[in-house]
Amino acid sequence: MTHALPILNHQPRDPRVPPPAPAEARRAGRLHDAHGRVIRDLRLSVTDRCNYRCVYCMDPDHRYMPKRDLLTVDEYLAVARGARDLGIDKIRITGGEPTLYPDLDVLLEGLGALGFEDVALTSNGSLIDEAMARRWSERGLRRLTLSLDSVRDERVNEITRTNATPAGVIRAITAARAAGLDPIKVNAVVMRGRNDDEIADFADFARTHAIDMRLIEWMPLDSGRTWDREVVVTATEMLAAIERRHALVPVDRTDPHATALNFAFADGAPGRIGIIASVTRAFCGACSRLRVTADGKVRPCLFSHEEWDLKPLLRRSGTEPDVAAFIADAMWTKQAGHGIGADGFEPPERGMSAIGG
Ligand code: SAM
Ligand code: SF4
Repeated sequence: MTHALPILNHQPRDPRVPPPAPAEARRAGRLHDAHGRVIRDLRLSVTDRCNYRCVYCMDPDHRYMPKRDLLTVDEYLAVARGARDLGIDKIRITGGEPTLYPDLDVLLEGLGALGFEDVALTSNGSLIDEAMARRWSERGLRRLTLSLDSVRDERVNEITRTNATPAGVIRAITAARAAGLDPIKVNAVVMRGRNDDEIADFADFARTHAIDMRLIEWMPLDSGRTWDREVVVTATEMLAAIERRHALVPVDRTDPHATALNFAFADGAPGRIGIIASVTRAFCGACSRLRVTADGKVRPCLFSHEEWDLKPLLRRSGTEPDVAAFIADAMWTKQAGHGIGADGFEPPERGMSAIGG
């Protein structure tokens, strides 16, 4: 007797599409991950291009993604609408260097109309002038974070591999202040043997320019894969170096999702210090972030090996609920922690400039 083979009625799963999340992923009007964390903060990268090649970020021979793979401004806005539907109320535009993105004003205009509580942007500051900062502010940008890894001209040249100097960032600070952007933060990645002798100078920079200076531990996210644990200057070392020159007082951590340990100057001088100890004091348990790359990949974690491709859905003109559902499913796969330092840790395939910092 012969038996008919059963007809299997399931299609192989598309590896670019996340498995469906349970209904509890969306509760109380908020998006949650499988570890109980609320996701409320979207980092949207709008380009992987950059006019710098910072030594801790981008290899000199780094290759960009083909232009056709990058999302259009309407697609970025569709991502933002989907995220907004899930209760995500903070958005940061980043890259690569987002000021190189030609549709930045259009994007900010669109985001302004979506009613995000907080719209911020991270930039190396090289191209920012007063007119630009004012336009952004009128479109709803609230906060600006800049990057400056040395207060010395020749060091900025070496680190960025360009002829940039601190003067560009100082100009951007002035422009941002005139446009009412507040707070203004300045990031520095501190590396042993490169700029760790300037830690207290960064504190002086914060005082002189009345900005929040944020000192960051170098993470294994450079595209050249040159990261070396020995080169990481720890939060403890950074604090000690500042306190040799200025007494600090901790600032109340009102935001439980804040990534920085924040300090004010004990003598009441303007400016603040934030230490971002991503390597030695991981804050993964409080992480509220979702990342979408310039080519439309949803990355639940900076260190994800898995990323979920939203672009086909966007290019099929997926509806807002479809986009929201895709994001919710993707975020349910968010890993508990980055695992730097754990046995078998492998950095992600993409570097920081291609993920969005
Ligand atoms: N180009 C802009 C800039 O430099 O501000 C925005 C993108 S950049 C990737 C965002 C932030 O990531 C910068 O402040 C940069 O210093 C930081 N960053 C880049 N690579 C890093 C790494 N390997 N470890 C820690 N921070 C890094
Ligand atoms: Fe460009 Fe920013 Fe990376 Fe420097 S840190 S190479 S400015 S993306």
